[in-house]
Amino acid sequence: MENLLEIKDLYVEYKTDKGFTGEKQIIHAVNGVTLNVKRGEILAIAGESGCGKSTLAKAIVRLETSKCGEINFEDQNVLKMDKKALKEYRKKAQMVFQNPYASLNPKMKIIDILSEPLKINTNLSDIQIYETVKEKFEKVGLDKECLELYPHEFSGGQRQRIAIARALVLNPEFILADEPVSALDVSIQAQIINLLRQLKNEYKLTFILITHDMSVIKYLADRVAIMYLGEIVETGTTSQIFVNPKHPYTKALLSAVPQISGEQQERIILEGDLPSPANLPNGCKFHTRCPNCMDICTQCPPQNIEINDEHKVKCFLYMKLNK
Ligand code: SF4
Repeated sequence: MENLLEIKDLYVEYKTDKGFTGEKQIIHAVNGVTLNVKRGEILAIAGESGCGKSTLAKAIVRLETSKCGEINFEDQNVLKMDKKALKEYRKKAQMVFQNPYASLNPKMKIIDILSEPLKINTNLSDIQIYETVKEKFEKVGLDKECLELYPHEFSGGQRQRIAIARALVLNPEFILADEPVSALDVSIQAQIINLLRQLKNEYKLTFILITHDMSVIKYLADRVAIMYLGEIVETGTTSQIFVNPKHPYTKALLSAVPQISGEQQERIILEGDLPSPANLPNGCKFHTRCPNCMDICTQCPPQNIEINDEHKVKCFLYMKLNK
């Protein structure tokens, strides 16, 4: 499968005040991420809250400023695009946010919310805009009679369907979905997950799915990238990651996933909290919590090691495989 996006050595940093002292701190949110997104796949980026996955998603669509690196899309570096090229890119790269309550303007009717991107970005006539909006609204399982309603007249699940319809109206190449089901009831989550899968097949879409929920990933994703403190520490197909996880952090994340068979594996409880991205540990960034930590881990950062074609891990435990 060809690559739709190629992210190379991407860094995103923020400066913040250090509370009472007023001293500036640098938050290292994304630290040298290199990652490809293949056309037509659902790539999940997973990790606990604060690991940098949402910042990475925003950097991909340039809602966050990157310090350095490359994001290549159709032979252009997104970070170097001028205003015109960026506008074209953003038509092809749409986002669905976590909170369907906050992502829709409560003062606008649904017909206006869904028409707005088409009015701004295309030369379609009013009738063509209506037809496009109606088609996408019905595709996400909603009745065109409801287009005249306001967001507050819909349930949470319906609002997330509307947000997905809005992402679809410009016929994007890929959709970045940031925790698209985590604000919804469990019964509704399954419906939205099924809808995303159906839309992916129907429109041959590519999805980048940002989530901390490994159960959602298991059901929905083709490939998984595990993120810890702004770094990708393991990538692989969904079955490689779930059947044969290598990185101790991936193993800990997976140990918390309930098993349908009822045979719950032993839960790996990590010691301590996620270190602050303002004070990154030396060596392997996971060494302060890793149950397998060795001397070398505290001194040098591990490089990517290829387990096989798709499966890569950053961990000294597998260094011998590369010798
Ligand atoms: Fe643990 Fe060392 Fe592997 Fe890092 S490199 S995950 S500290 S064993």
